[in-house]
Amino acid sequence: MSAAKPTGFLQVDVDGLWAVRACYGKPENDTFRCDPCWEEGLPRLDATFNRSGVPAAFFIVGRDLEVPAKRLIARGMVERGVELGNHSYTHRIGLSLRPYGEILEELRGADEALRSVGARPVGFRAPGYDVDARVLRAVRQLRYRYDASVLPTYLSPLLRLADAWLSRGWNPAKRQFGRVAYGRAPRRPYFPLPWKVRKEAKSLQRGSILELPVGTTPRLHLPLTAASLFPLGRSRLRQLFQQLAERGRPTLLLLHAIDGVDCSQPIVFDGRRPTMGGFAMAGRDKEQRLRRIVEEFARAFDVVRADEYASAAFSQRTAAPRLSA
Ligand SMILES: [Zn+2]
Repeated sequence: MSAAKPTGFLQVDVDGLWAVRACYGKPENDTFRCDPCWEEGLPRLDATFNRSGVPAAFFIVGRDLEVPAKRLIARGMVERGVELGNHSYTHRIGLSLRPYGEILEELRGADEALRSVGARPVGFRAPGYDVDARVLRAVRQLRYRYDASVLPTYLSPLLRLADAWLSRGWNPAKRQFGRVAYGRAPRRPYFPLPWKVRKEAKSLQRGSILELPVGTTPRLHLPLTAASLFPLGRSRLRQLFQQLAERGRPTLLLLHAIDGVDCSQPIVFDGRRPTMGGFAMAGRDKEQRLRRIVEEFARAFDVVRADEYASAAFSQRTAAPRLSA
């Protein structure tokens, strides 16, 4: 049944409300301990995936596992066999601007926190898609199987401008959405770094890692996230995913914990409610939109576990693109 479908990956960045607020320069207040992203968003997403019978990986920020209630949720997911990935320890945006030792600490801290709840993470995604050769070196040093931080789009300057508009200020240290050059990166899983693709693509080297780039829309190369998918009705979603599936590439759809959180009351932009990305959307509404996104994605793609896909890519010792289709 699924033989003809290309591979799909569903992933969630579990950015706590404190981390989302920090992204937009808002104070944390009590959102670290009382965190609807964990209490409401994560379970809603988890239930949506279960309902469609598709696996998904949840990328955890290590610091969140300092909270006993969050540890309990994470441990429960591990016990159910859900893949947990590493999303850094403090979710600091602009990882690539830091010294190597700090990058490694961010990754190692989250790795240890995840292991302390029984997880065996093999995948990493940088906060704000801010990845470079040094970040990947740290991922490799942890002996992970894959990185999923590259956003292959030329739109990163525009996305940063939109973000600055939302934050009401430009912060040069808030490096995110990758580099313009990543627009040239492959739009399917690949082994080497984008800037070394020609040199290394032909052979898999020991100690290397697989890159699972974040999916983008066909023409505009907008990221396949809630911001671009929430506005679409079912037929438009079906059309979009079919269009992507026809290309035969493994495709990664990325959601965030806040995509499952009721935002009918402003919780990020106090008193000011941008509609982008569901920042002013009620929980019920989000639930319906999430359901049709996941259902239509699963209709077009054979959704598999990224950890298993990466392991298979290594054991087959072949270039990742050949695994597709
Ligand atoms: Zn994040």
